[in-house]
This record gives sequence, C-alpha cells and structure tokens, in this order.
Amino acid sequence: MLHSKQQLIQTLQGRDIVIWGARMTGMGFLRFSRANDLNVINFVDSDPAFTNKTLNSIPVYHPDRLKKQQQENTNLLIVVAVSIKEEEIIQSLTKMNFSKNDYMLYSDYCDSFYTIDVVGTCNLECPTCAHGITGAKPPRGMMAFEDFTRVIEKIKSEVEVLTHVSLYSWGEPLLHPKLPDIIKHLHKNGIAAAISSNLSIKSDDQLKRVIQASPEFFKVSLSGFYPETYNETHTGGDINLVKSNLYRLKYYIEKYESNTFVDVNYHLYTNNNQKNLQKMQELCDELGFSLSATYSLIMPLERCLDHCNGIIDPQTEELQKILLVDIDEGIEVTKDFRSSTCPFKENQTNINWDLSVPVCCTTFYKADTIVAKDYLKSDLSDIKREKDKASICAECMHYGLPAYNMGFNQSGWKKVAATKVSKDIKN
Ligand code: SF4
Repeated sequence: MLHSKQQLIQTLQGRDIVIWGARMTGMGFLRFSRANDLNVINFVDSDPAFTNKTLNSIPVYHPDRLKKQQQENTNLLIVVAVSIKEEEIIQSLTKMNFSKNDYMLYSDYCDSFYTIDVVGTCNLECPTCAHGITGAKPPRGMMAFEDFTRVIEKIKSEVEVLTHVSLYSWGEPLLHPKLPDIIKHLHKNGIAAAISSNLSIKSDDQLKRVIQASPEFFKVSLSGFYPETYNETHTGGDINLVKSNLYRLKYYIEKYESNTFVDVNYHLYTNNNQKNLQKMQELCDELGFSLSATYSLIMPLERCLDHCNGIIDPQTEELQKILLVDIDEGIEVTKDFRSSTCPFKENQTNINWDLSVPVCCTTFYKADTIVAKDYLKSDLSDIKREKDKASICAECMHYGLPAYNMGFNQSGWKKVAATKVSKDIKN
C-alpha cells in the first residue's frame, strides 16, 4: 500500500538526502524536495553519462562514493527514485552493505508515472520507430492545450504524489506550438517536465521559447555525427541542423539561466559506433551536455512480437542487420533478468495525443492495445483492469520482452556488440 505525501515529507525532513537516479524520476523528486524544504545534497547514478555533471545546481556522482559519504555523514538518507531498474539498485545497495534503514524507495510513495504524448506525429521517419514503418498510417494530430490541462487535473485527482510528467512517447513534442505553455502549466502545478526531440527543427523561436519555459530534462535523439551516417537511420533529418540547434540550446540555456539538463541520446548501430560516436562525444563535452549511448531497438513492440512469432517482415529483417544487438541476441542476454511483473504495466500510464490510452509505451496504435478510448472519461481502476486483460502482455512476457526493452544486463549487450564488425568511419 502507498504511504501518504505527509509521511514522505516527515520521513525526509531534517535528513541529508542523496537521490539515486538522475533521470526524470529523480529530477521530479528534486522539484518535490525543493517545494517542501527538504535538503538534497547530491544525486548518484551509475550511468557514466551523468558522472560529474550538475542537475539543477545539484552534483551527480557515481554510486561508488556512497559508502564513504555515509561514513562521513550519519544523517544521510538515500532515496531511490527510478521508474524502472529499482530492483537492480536495491541489489547494488545490498552488495554495498547498506541496510534497509539507510535508504527508502520513492515508489513506496509514488508508483504512478505518466507520459503524455502531446504530439501524435513526427517530422522524421526513422526506420526503427513506429513512424518509420513502411505503409503505416497511424492517426495524427496534437493534444489541445485545454485537453492537456484537463488531463493534468484528472491525474492530480488520481495520485497524491505527482512530481514529473514526460511529454513524449512517439511524437516530436517541439512541433506543438503550445509546448512552452504546456511546460509552464506543469510547473504551475509543481510538476517537472521532460521532453525528447530529434532537434531537426527549423524554428529558432520555438527552441528559444521552450528553453525559456525551462523543462527539467531535454533529451535529444540522434544516431551519428556525419550526414551520410545519420541519414541512414534518422530518415528525413538533417544532422547539421541538429548540431547547430545544440549550440542554440546551449546559448539559450545560458542566456535565460534555464535549469534544463540536456542529454544526447545516441542510438548505437554498426555504422556509427566509432568515429561518429567519438565526434559527438567531443561536441557534447564542449557544450557540457551528457551523452547516453544506447543500443538501438526495433520499435514498436508489435514488430518484435511478429519477429518472435516467425512472421517475417522484410523491413524488420533488414534493420536487424545494422543493430549491434539484434532482437534474438537482446532477448538472450536479458533472459536471466526476467520478472513475473512488468513495470511498464504496473506503474506507467501513457496518454496519447487523442486521449486514448495504450497498454504501455512500447505498443503503437493497434486497436487491441488501446485500453481506454478517452482517458478523461475512464477511471484509473478501469484502465488498470483493462491492462490486466490485454492479451499482448501474455505474449510479451512469454518472450521476455519487458526485460529486453528495459535493456537489463548492459555488460551482456556490450559483449554481443563487441562481436559485430563496425562499419563506422575508421579513426
Ligand atoms: S508486458 Fe509487454 S505489452 Fe504488457 S505492459 Fe509490459 S512491455 Fe507492455
């Protein structure tokens, strides 16, 4: 059973807090802490992309440092604030000899994470994304600002603690002319905002207004440094425009003293894992942005399921050849990390631009994966019940796809990737 917001504040008051998790859940928790006069001293995160970075004026360290911190500060309390991989972190804490009194789980107080896909379209057609499926014609549109405010009102009536919302799933949020107002509306309600963009956008004014609104987290998705590489997997994008926009982001962040943290999410393929990666890392270092390199997956889930079921799709099979870890290899390396539950189902609610609710963020617009037609007219309990009945989940669990989608066992992925011949430009 969830504990109350008041209990959370009481537990944390007067303690020196370290937040484990520098991504959105942690950032949302930081916003909550500041609003309630709690003392956060630093983040820790094992993702090297965050090491020695600063989030909203708070430093991020590697978890290795925790034990020493505890010895020096008996008032320390670790708050694990993540939406997935919580179990992994608990295991790490146990290995480091931390007892249950030394840490608390934010999920004991906040177990509902919301994603609102405010834009139901994209300006690019990347082949590994749902928007790049040949011949697919999903419904397209944008969530009206008024609907967005109603959605937030309803969410707040459903959960006592709501600290962050992600404003993207499949769409390109920067295409929404009211995105700055959407971010401001979240802040007005004490909620941190995350956006993700391909940044291949020609509107300097939109970038400026978004940074003025100061979203906490700004993910930039790309897959290469040089045009000939990037164009293979970010179809329709312009990496030179993306790079100049990265400079613009930096300029506006400094000019408007924005607290936005920029994380360049670098999608790894066989054609971009050497010189391209190195050059993009150098650019991120120059700008003070983090770079998170992630092994590309073929999305949405339905394509992986088709593959697992032996349904051959030529586009999927072609894409498999440029992945550093293909679907079968990814399922194999994560097989020991499977669980009987799925966090995507248990603690996440996704709301599409047209107010429909999919079973989770990995599925895309097939009638039988929509669990509510209109979020505003559906009780959360009904949504949960429909999710429990979704037949796609049984199949997905059978093949171990939640563990695969969450990318458990990164060292296993690395080993597989190392066996692939790189087609990147040699140094
Ligand atoms: S089991 Fe699969 S389809 Fe169901 S919520 Fe989890 S990831 Fe999504």
